[in-house]
Amino acid sequence: MAYNINSIRENFPILKTRVYNKSLVYFDNAATTQKPDCVIRKITYMYEQCNANVHRGVHYLSAMATDEMEAARETVRQFINARNSCEIVFTRGTTEAINLVAFSFAEAFLGDGDEIIVTEMEHHSNLVPWQMACQRRGARLVKWPISNKGELVAGVFSTLITEKTRLLALGHVSNALGSINPVKEIIAEAHKHGIVVLVDGAQAVQHLSVDVQDLDCDFYTFSSHKIYGPTGIGVLYGKEEWLEKLPPYQGGGEMISKVSFEKSEYNNLPFKFEAGTPDYVGSAALGEALRYIESIGIGNIAAHEAALLDYATSRLTESDGLNIYGNANKKCSLISFLLKNHHPYDLGVLLDQMGFATRTGTHCAETVMQHFGISGTIRVSFGLYNTFDEIDRFAEALKKADAMLS
Ligand code: PMP
Repeated sequence: MAYNINSIRENFPILKTRVYNKSLVYFDNAATTQKPDCVIRKITYMYEQCNANVHRGVHYLSAMATDEMEAARETVRQFINARNSCEIVFTRGTTEAINLVAFSFAEAFLGDGDEIIVTEMEHHSNLVPWQMACQRRGARLVKWPISNKGELVAGVFSTLITEKTRLLALGHVSNALGSINPVKEIIAEAHKHGIVVLVDGAQAVQHLSVDVQDLDCDFYTFSSHKIYGPTGIGVLYGKEEWLEKLPPYQGGGEMISKVSFEKSEYNNLPFKFEAGTPDYVGSAALGEALRYIESIGIGNIAAHEAALLDYATSRLTESDGLNIYGNANKKCSLISFLLKNHHPYDLGVLLDQMGFATRTGTHCAETVMQHFGISGTIRVSFGLYNTFDEIDRFAEALKKADAMLS
């Protein structure tokens, strides 16, 4: 099937926005993606026709809302090919999902002198929770360094492993560099040593086909808002055996099966990890977003974005003095760069005035910036609705901004 970019763009009302009387070019997809009208309609539908608290109501609307939420859980299960829908925990997003695992895993399985390996290219969400867990439990954080190409240094992992290594936390795709990590091979190596692996998929699920059984990861996390769904909802996948072993993260309603003043018994999976009223509207709308992705085909999206990345890389490097950070052999559709010695913020402001939404700064990955000895980059990140024409316009705008700043 041909990739019908025009009809895809028609699905996203916000793309018609004019900024400073110019057409919007949205190149900040790694920060968050725009929403197709089916997702927006689903949110309206939920509040107009399907709103009631889930799981505990005997009435009609409550049953409908519960069905919507549980159907969405099944959609997520299929989307990442989890074995069982009880392995899908709804969270507020990737950050909460990682904090959940970092807290609960540390409570039960991390002790004095234990070690957790985290890579140098992680988003702060996949670093700070592990630092906190290590501080609490007297454990040690071990760094897996990156190369100047922005790849994990091969062969280093095995040298970092000791008999104290308990867990490896790594991103599937780097939000600051675009690098796609060979997670399947890494997980296989980790498992040979009995090391548990959490994969941060926040920048992967919207670009690549992800099969958690094939990867054999123990935990996988992602955020709805980066995959064309609503904000405030995300997913923790955990192997059933691991979720069973972990203690709850938060206490409250929903996560219990029996409560007395002295003690409580916890609910079955996944509810043990979903304390309080969940975001059932968000879940339902995330389900809709995943069905939208499937209607286009993740393989078709990946091919379109790979072509955009190739084209943008060649157009941007036409500018003298443009330095790309992140030249991994396998990359997703984002480019982090600096142009001459222009401050990325100044470039970002000028580009904004020309209608381009880009991101500047550290991208919540300060260890990456420290590796390269820079204070930040400007980043363009492409989604399924971006076009070659937008890249052409961007390349010209960049030349103009360069001339203005020189
Ligand atoms: N990990 C990565 C790789 C990310 O790009 C992001 C978002 N920028 C996060 C984690 C955190 O996601 P969220 O803010 O949606 O929780």
